[in-house]
Amino acid sequence: MTAHRSGGTERVDCDVAVIGHGPVGSALAILLAQHGHTVTVLERWPVPYSLPRAVHFDDEVARILQACGIGGVLAEISEPADVYEWRNAAGLPLARFGRSGLGPSGWPSSSMFHQPHLEALLEDRARDLSTLVLRRGVEAVGLIQTDEGVIIHARNHAGTALDIRCRYAVGCDGANSTIRQLLDIPTIDLGFFYDWLIVDVVLHEQRVYDPINVQVCDPARPTTVVSGGPGRRRWEFMRRPDETLDDLNSTDAAWRLLAAWDVTPDNATLERHAVYTFKACHAAQWRNGRVLLAGDAAHLMPPFAGQGMCSGIRDVANLAWKLHLALGGRGGDSVLDSYTEERLPHARAVIDFSIELGKIICVSDPAEAAARDELMGGSFTAIAMSIPPLPPIAGALLPANDPVAGHLFPQGMVAVDGARARFDDVHGVGWRMVTVTTDRLDLDTALAEWFDDESGSVVAISPDADVDGTYATWFAEQRCTWALQRPDFHVQGAASDVDGAAALLVDLRNRLTAPLVRSEEPPISASQA
Ligand SMILES: Cc1cc2nc3c(=O)[nH]c(=O)nc-3n(C[C@H](O)[C@H](O)[C@H](O)COP(=O)(O)OP(=O)(O)OC[C@H]3O[C@@H](n4cnc5c(N)ncnc54)[C@H](O)[C@@H]3O)c2cc1C
Repeated sequence: MTAHRSGGTERVDCDVAVIGHGPVGSALAILLAQHGHTVTVLERWPVPYSLPRAVHFDDEVARILQACGIGGVLAEISEPADVYEWRNAAGLPLARFGRSGLGPSGWPSSSMFHQPHLEALLEDRARDLSTLVLRRGVEAVGLIQTDEGVIIHARNHAGTALDIRCRYAVGCDGANSTIRQLLDIPTIDLGFFYDWLIVDVVLHEQRVYDPINVQVCDPARPTTVVSGGPGRRRWEFMRRPDETLDDLNSTDAAWRLLAAWDVTPDNATLERHAVYTFKACHAAQWRNGRVLLAGDAAHLMPPFAGQGMCSGIRDVANLAWKLHLALGGRGGDSVLDSYTEERLPHARAVIDFSIELGKIICVSDPAEAAARDELMGGSFTAIAMSIPPLPPIAGALLPANDPVAGHLFPQGMVAVDGARARFDDVHGVGWRMVTVTTDRLDLDTALAEWFDDESGSVVAISPDADVDGTYATWFAEQRCTWALQRPDFHVQGAASDVDGAAALLVDLRNRLTAPLVRSEEPPISASQA
């Protein structure tokens, strides 16, 4: 990374400019810098954002955060959540969602956390990486694209101009993304608007909440009562149709509503409160030349599934390895185009699911609520419901005829030198050809060198190493013995013998190096929008 001054403008050269240092921009910058790329992150605010937002992440996101180098401390800022119970106005259960224990990615299926703590961990990790520079108090205000790169025009709070010359730029600049607006990318509005007061509380004496997370589907005041991470509780209160935003958005209103939950200034500290309008929308495209969008800049959803940030973290896990390829001159436009192709339909499915949850929760009409309650839980015994699994990813980069391709590959505990550790901590993150056989994969020299250049490796997991049986179970269920795991933890393809495994690598090399053949259909067609 080089910096110099010309006239009144400071100029910085780097591989990638990341605009926005929320959780998404922060994770992307770390993943790129871990590959040795020079990254400049521009963040408008001089200090981290402190208003209440995300409190939940899932096991896949925990695995990506592990890949960012903070797996060792993640448990300190999070607590597992196994049950999310929905109740009617009388407190009778309508449904129970959730799974206990570890999810397929080797972390608790659901974890509750405090977003500022996560952002602080990511910022500490970012400061450890010598090729990553975070410029706080600097706002991106313009951009120019050329065939070779991008210039991001920025200025600091004193008005001093800064130009970042980079090969790629990624707008991780949140819901009102400047980068999205500068690129003139339209937003597809999915028509969901509800105002909620969000209140974060620290109780002076801890209480046991069982279940840990509750949704009160009371038409008089839809309310969410959940963990806000270790030592914290979160209440969310929907604005009623007869209230104004001002009626709701005050410390007095927060205490008044909390009183019904025996939370008062005598027994609790009100950490923060804010009113948010929950919305559902996404950018029509996530790439324009050398500039890409990720996180809230690309999509927004109501938080009822706790998936907004999770989707953004998934975006950057998908994008980081593709940018790494492009920066190395391997894999070009075609591979970068697969970012939108793979991520947009997935994010859209999660948005649609979040809207469906919102339609059930945000009911303020008593008759409508009574009909809903009857439909959902007429017997008022908690119906165990599973949250539908997130869909696989698809697109031209993945073999169409492989039923396992595009699904997540699991992470289990493996034995190494008499100790147990998570697979990624032992074998690293990247292309991993995993097998439960002892067969040897003999590749021709060119293919072996290519796989090596891509930091690929073959990992054979013996029954002794497979300490919790994750791999034996998965391979038996999928009826295969070899699986090629991508750097974003999805399965590129699976095979039943060494010839099939070698063919997977040949196929991958072709797909990464030759222009991909795509159908004419855009990832989200106009009729779906
Ligand atoms: C009440 C609520 C509850 C939620 N709960 C959950 C949950 O439980 N789980 C979950 O996964 N998600 C949840 N979400 C969503 C989650 O908070 C967001 O999806 C997530 O914070 C988005 O991260 P981001 O990095 O994309 O954007 P942001 O966190 O918004 O970060 C964008 C950054 O870009 C900076 N920026 C903007 N413009 C510029 C510019 N021009 N130049 C430089 N910097 C700029 C901003 O200052 C900001 O720091 C919730 C959201 C809300 C509102």
